[in-house]
Amino acid sequence: MGRTVSAAVTRLRVSVVGGREGVAVAVQPANSVWQDVLSEINHCNKCGFCLPACPTYRLTGNEVDSPRGRIAMVEAVARGEMPIGEALAKSLDYCLGCRACETACPSGVEYIRIYEAGVRALRAVRKPRPMWLAQQMLTLVKHPRRLARMARLAERLKNLPWPTAFRPYRGMLGYRTESVSVPANPPDAAVTVLFFGGCVQSAVFPDANQAAVALLRWAGYQVVTPVGQTCCGALHWHNGEESQALELAKQNIVAFERTPDAWIVNTAGGCGAMLSEYGKIFADDAAWSARAAAFSGRVRDWTTLLRQSPRPLTFRGAGERVTLQNSCHLVNVEKAGADPVWLLQQVTGDDFRPMPGQDRCCGSAGIYNLEHPDWSVAILDRKMEEVEGLEVDRIVAVNPGCQLQMQWGVARHDSRQAVEHLARYLYRAHQRARQAGGDGHG
Ligand code: SF4
Ligand code: SF4
Repeated sequence: MGRTVSAAVTRLRVSVVGGREGVAVAVQPANSVWQDVLSEINHCNKCGFCLPACPTYRLTGNEVDSPRGRIAMVEAVARGEMPIGEALAKSLDYCLGCRACETACPSGVEYIRIYEAGVRALRAVRKPRPMWLAQQMLTLVKHPRRLARMARLAERLKNLPWPTAFRPYRGMLGYRTESVSVPANPPDAAVTVLFFGGCVQSAVFPDANQAAVALLRWAGYQVVTPVGQTCCGALHWHNGEESQALELAKQNIVAFERTPDAWIVNTAGGCGAMLSEYGKIFADDAAWSARAAAFSGRVRDWTTLLRQSPRPLTFRGAGERVTLQNSCHLVNVEKAGADPVWLLQQVTGDDFRPMPGQDRCCGSAGIYNLEHPDWSVAILDRKMEEVEGLEVDRIVAVNPGCQLQMQWGVARHDSRQAVEHLARYLYRAHQRARQAGGDGHG
């Protein structure tokens, strides 16, 4: 493994050509950072197998919006053959960061390292200016109580006239939390799991977290929620606020290493991917690398542990047709996308109808839907066409951003599907199985 791009950013050497920053920048090709990136790029044989997996390429059909095109641009910049300018900026800005290209690539190219090198080269000459709403989100996620209050306020104001700029996002609202009864820890539990709440999940969909804790306890785990945990830092990391992301990550590492031998679980695929990559992010930091690697080595999605539980649960549906919008980071980074699918297949009495592109990004992608609503909506509309073809009653998601996005899709298309997190759906299905007799275990 080469050096991580993140740690090397301070050593990036660029010089501005001409008078305007960010317009044309020559790069020192001998720079060791670029040598690392070029060695990763050398694994790409330009075969194009990743193109059909890429949502932005599928949308436009343009090479510059494909993984291969983006890799070629970063390569040209790294070799000093192309300036760091608007062409590179537009191509990389519109990448979702979904990493479907990595899963599709037969050569094992780590696209994200190449992409991040390009983004950091851009940031060295062009201070990112996130739109106002996106900037508010980056601040709010560090203050979950404030975020929860804002979410409740937005719900209350939903039917009042909204400023034109915010009106399109009104479709994301309308979620109703359900009452969840969380049992005590089983007295005979042999395995302890530490629960990571996640900022958006805890603030906007608290019942999904409660449902997951209940299911894990019924399945025989002792579930503990460590104090001192905070936002995973993913939104900051992917939006140019690296130092804030690193501070948040350190706070989480400290909070969870007080119980060093327990799994760390969460219900948000996007958070899980970030938590599982703390080890890579701190790889060059002598003080934190071992602690971060130990932390990441313990991260699992809650569905993985539920699937492997010592006391498997039974689930009974309500005669509905159900589909899944998977989390691209759960699929492409944590490589655990099969676990939600397996759990849905265990529900008797419901008809699970897999969506053709269930693993493909829905266009939410962190705050991509706030920054690029035009492309995000175009990707979402295609997704909704797939949903409508299935004639389902319910869409389940495994990440809060995907859940909000699918709620938006249902509202935009004036559709009738209910949207909720998989944990809440399975909680009700397990309650039904218990009420039908037996103890709810298989
Ligand atoms: S990234 Fe992988 S799949 Fe895509 S063109 Fe390169 S080698 Fe082929
Ligand atoms: S991360 Fe996603 S959007 Fe970006 S190039 Fe890869 S597949 Fe395409």
